[in-house]
Amino acid sequence: MQTRWDLSYLYSGFDDPAFTSDLNALKSSIEEARTALASADDDRAFIKAFITENEAISCLTEKLFSYCELTLSADASNAQAEKYLDQVMLLSNDISLLSSSVVRRLGNMQNLEEILASLPEAAPCAFALREMAEEARHSIPEAIEPWILKMQLSGGGAFSMLRNKLDATHLVEYRGESLPLSSVRGLAYSPDESVRRDAYEAEITSYSKMEIPMASCLNSIKMEARTLSELKGYPSVLDMTLAESRMDRETLDAMWTAVREALPDFRRYLLAKARLLGHKNGLPFFDLFAPVGKSRTYTLEEAHDLLLREMGKFTPKMAEFMDHAFQAGWIDVYPRAGKSGGAFCAGVHSFDRSLVLTNFQGSFSDVSTLAHELGHAWHNRCLAGLPYLMIDTPMPLAETASIFNETMLSYQVLSSCSPEEELHLLENGLMEATQTVVDIYSRFLFESEVIQTRADHAMTPDELKDAMLRAQDASYGEGLDPAFRHPYMWACKSHYYSSGLNFYNFPYAFGLLFGKGVFARYLKEGSAFVDTYCQLLRSCGSAPVAEVAASVGIDVHSVDFWRESLSMIRRDIDRFCALCE
Ligand SMILES: [Zn+2]
Repeated sequence: MQTRWDLSYLYSGFDDPAFTSDLNALKSSIEEARTALASADDDRAFIKAFITENEAISCLTEKLFSYCELTLSADASNAQAEKYLDQVMLLSNDISLLSSSVVRRLGNMQNLEEILASLPEAAPCAFALREMAEEARHSIPEAIEPWILKMQLSGGGAFSMLRNKLDATHLVEYRGESLPLSSVRGLAYSPDESVRRDAYEAEITSYSKMEIPMASCLNSIKMEARTLSELKGYPSVLDMTLAESRMDRETLDAMWTAVREALPDFRRYLLAKARLLGHKNGLPFFDLFAPVGKSRTYTLEEAHDLLLREMGKFTPKMAEFMDHAFQAGWIDVYPRAGKSGGAFCAGVHSFDRSLVLTNFQGSFSDVSTLAHELGHAWHNRCLAGLPYLMIDTPMPLAETASIFNETMLSYQVLSSCSPEEELHLLENGLMEATQTVVDIYSRFLFESEVIQTRADHAMTPDELKDAMLRAQDASYGEGLDPAFRHPYMWACKSHYYSSGLNFYNFPYAFGLLFGKGVFARYLKEGSAFVDTYCQLLRSCGSAPVAEVAASVGIDVHSVDFWRESLSMIRRDIDRFCALCE
């Protein structure tokens, strides 16, 4: 098994002549595209030129960008990777402006449908072209677009960067030591209750030092979001976000309705965990992540064998695919100095390859992460061969294959483990599901209130704390001890602060529940579902979310679909509560 990436199929290094030649080719492709589009005789020729140029530019950008980014995430101190990444990013600004001009032109075409029907090159990209034409209705007026883009650099973008600096340099006084915020938050997973509690108290106390600048960042970023949604002609920031996610209000409402109905189940789980840990008034925030039960560890070989055996039950092709990823250097497995934390999967479409980064240390959760990231890789495999214009999966659907894999793995493993291990695995899954459903719901309520209030005034830190506590009360209810909540969750979650990306919360809940709902379909239909599933993944970038789901008979407008997903979690909660008794 290879435990490091093999990136040589992209380039042999930054001094590889192919790298320089591709970088130059990208610059000239952008120029060439500008000329070709400007000199197209008519709309038909314009669309034909756009499709050709877009494929060439996307392919080069992806290759160069992937090589720089992947090199950097495996070796943060690689100065060359950083330098070239900057250059590629600058070029991508040019590509954005080019794409805005295409959007305007498509929006003005009276004969678009006629061309889509008669131009063979356009048919496979029809959805993307129609979507771009539609986008024109919401584009920023051409004369001010470059200025707005520049103002964003010193507005939302600057506040977002300030937020990251505040977060990265924030120190917490914990037991006589000054520690970075992330280290202190990491202590929430400690097996020692006094550590978890002291860390929580130290963390909460520390926020008063940064609450004023942090509140300014939040207020400014959300004000900019309001301004942009108005400028683009959306009724609200949420409407703009939903449109960008290819999702409709009906879907979101149906999901939240089912989530609200399921909150008492999650509270039952939280109360059972609280009792198990000796608390009487619900779970204190500092014990949300407390480990429960006994766990075993896995070597990489054991993880590999487990994944192949259990995922192979879905289809032998999945086992073959995973084995290939392990053997062919698709995965950078172990943690090491200079390598980025966490895990991700990056697809390189033109090579039909995916690169997975993990920090494997042998817990079941690490094995589950491998299943998750290889799910993304499988999704990329299903998209192979499609035009670049049609592989853009919106956020809500992006986690379908990864959650499907995680759910499948835990479903199989839970059916054959010892009771002690079962308690640990169930709890671990429920802890994560609670974050993705209950905490995310509180974040949605909180962000809605901040955006709403911002029309009137900038919220003070006290108002933000109060809004956060009310949001936690509405979602966690009696499951959380009222004396130990987290009024500063808005100060530590980066998701509220990415300018240009709002309500970066509901797509997670959607992803988890949709992935589970798809798995529930598999349980019903068995192996007959395998092809349908792959077709579903292949169509993720080809239609609005509700249509993609409907293509495999899933109605995301129906509350019942979401109820069924949530009932899978309820079964785990019932079992967990029974084991706790
Ligand atoms: Zn993922």
